[in-house]
Amino acid sequence: MNTTDILSILCQMPSSILFKCPESASIYASKGFEQDFGISQSDSVGTHSFVFFDPETKDVIPPCNSPFTLAEKGEIVAQHFRLQTGLRTMNCFVESGVITTPAGMWVVLQVKTNVTALFSENKKSSAVSKHIAFNQLLTNFSSKLITASVHELDGIIDQALAAFGVFCDVDRCYLFEFSDDTECMSNTHEWVAAGVTPFIDELQNMPTSSLPFFMTHITDGMFKVDDVATLPDEAAAEKHIFDEERIFSILCVRIMVDDTMYGFIGCDIIGSPYVWNAFDIEYLRRIGEMLGNTLQSLHNRKALQKAQTELLEANKQLERLANIDGLTGIANRRLFDSTLLRDVKRCFEQGEALSLLLIDVDLFKQYNDAYGHVAGDAALQKIADTLTNSCAGNVDLVARYGGEEFAVILPNTRLDELHAIAARIIRNVKFLDIHHQASDYDNKLTVSIGMACLELSSPCKDAALQSSESALSLVQQADRALYRAKASGRNCAKL
Ligand code: GH3
Ligand code: MG
Ligand code: MG
Repeated sequence: MNTTDILSILCQMPSSILFKCPESASIYASKGFEQDFGISQSDSVGTHSFVFFDPETKDVIPPCNSPFTLAEKGEIVAQHFRLQTGLRTMNCFVESGVITTPAGMWVVLQVKTNVTALFSENKKSSAVSKHIAFNQLLTNFSSKLITASVHELDGIIDQALAAFGVFCDVDRCYLFEFSDDTECMSNTHEWVAAGVTPFIDELQNMPTSSLPFFMTHITDGMFKVDDVATLPDEAAAEKHIFDEERIFSILCVRIMVDDTMYGFIGCDIIGSPYVWNAFDIEYLRRIGEMLGNTLQSLHNRKALQKAQTELLEANKQLERLANIDGLTGIANRRLFDSTLLRDVKRCFEQGEALSLLLIDVDLFKQYNDAYGHVAGDAALQKIADTLTNSCAGNVDLVARYGGEEFAVILPNTRLDELHAIAARIIRNVKFLDIHHQASDYDNKLTVSIGMACLELSSPCKDAALQSSESALSLVQQADRALYRAKASGRNCAKL
């Protein structure tokens, strides 16, 4: 028997083997191997190229560690690899052996793919254990997803796709999302097996109208193609894309969120056709349901967060409105009272000065009588604006105290500064040039001001106890000063 005879015998072996002589670089495949990998027999002998990958790391195994090299060195190989031929890449269990023949020594690798494994085992019991394993995988991911925060979700989806891809031994597994109007779809997550080119970047914002055949099926729940070559003419656009990516078989299931189609999860087989079985469909459907439920709860959580933000904003708005005077837009009496109490307390705690002005429009009853209430309102608005502009400090609070009376709280303001501010207010109101025929001053609307100041030389320990009493007495002080200003002819500020 010569080398050609041995080669011819080994090539006809129905089991899946690869073999070579140590002296030659050529690797040969048996008929069984070619069947598993979908290789046609005509171009078989010696022409195949094989790449071994580490299924975990997805790294290519260097020639020095390839199972052939190890077996030639006398090591016994029995491990999982991902094996790439010119056509397909598949997970396999590889066992080495050496055959001695009259024509020399041959190194033989027995390659068990999932297909061969299924036939060699008891079909029924392996299907049951696969089912159990799948349920465990699903349970593991659903418990992760239940407790996942929004930013952890992407990572868990990636892990779930990878776990599913490995479990079902497919080449690529992915999640697509539709835009709200279903006009576009984008690949958001992708897992690829070792030796498979990722396509996620090319699959962004794809118009769904360009894939009508796919859309009709996925809208009904599922798109299943065992062999892309058998797609009908109306699927020409889809076939073109699948051919470009060398996809032979494809299985996608719809994902529903809030009764609308959110996207789909799918997987591909590259290089040779594959008949999707009921388990494959069931498994993918259940992964899709799990993701759909997760996205639904995320959706609900987001809707809840949005409602909560809107409520908080509405409350803030209400709070603002509750503190603002409707006519003038400045602080109202409510805000004045709480601010004065807070500022007086701080004044005691830190030993700082605090000043207060009470401002009353002069002869305003007569103004209303002469010009009407509408003009009276407009005059009050202008005075409120002028008061705001006259007090430069950003911690000052200008408030409408009531009727035609205003108040200004001036933290950190001492008496000398207070005189200057009051004088500026009186001047600026006159500059408004609001005509008032009954006015004692040049027929113009004027104001009178009562001043009060709390000047502490050092912090006071009982700040909380003293502040409410002191706030009241500060207001009374300013009120008496205002009375004095009125009594001394109006259009002036008094202490
Ligand atoms: P005095 O110089 O002594 O302060 O005289 P006065 O007329 O300003 O004081 P009085 O307390 O007699 O009258 C205050 C007037 O202010 C009476 C009231 O109609 C008017 N007034 C109070 N609130 C408003 C308001 O919101 N709009 C208008 N247009 N008038 C108001
Ligand atoms: Mg008054
Ligand atoms: Mg008045």
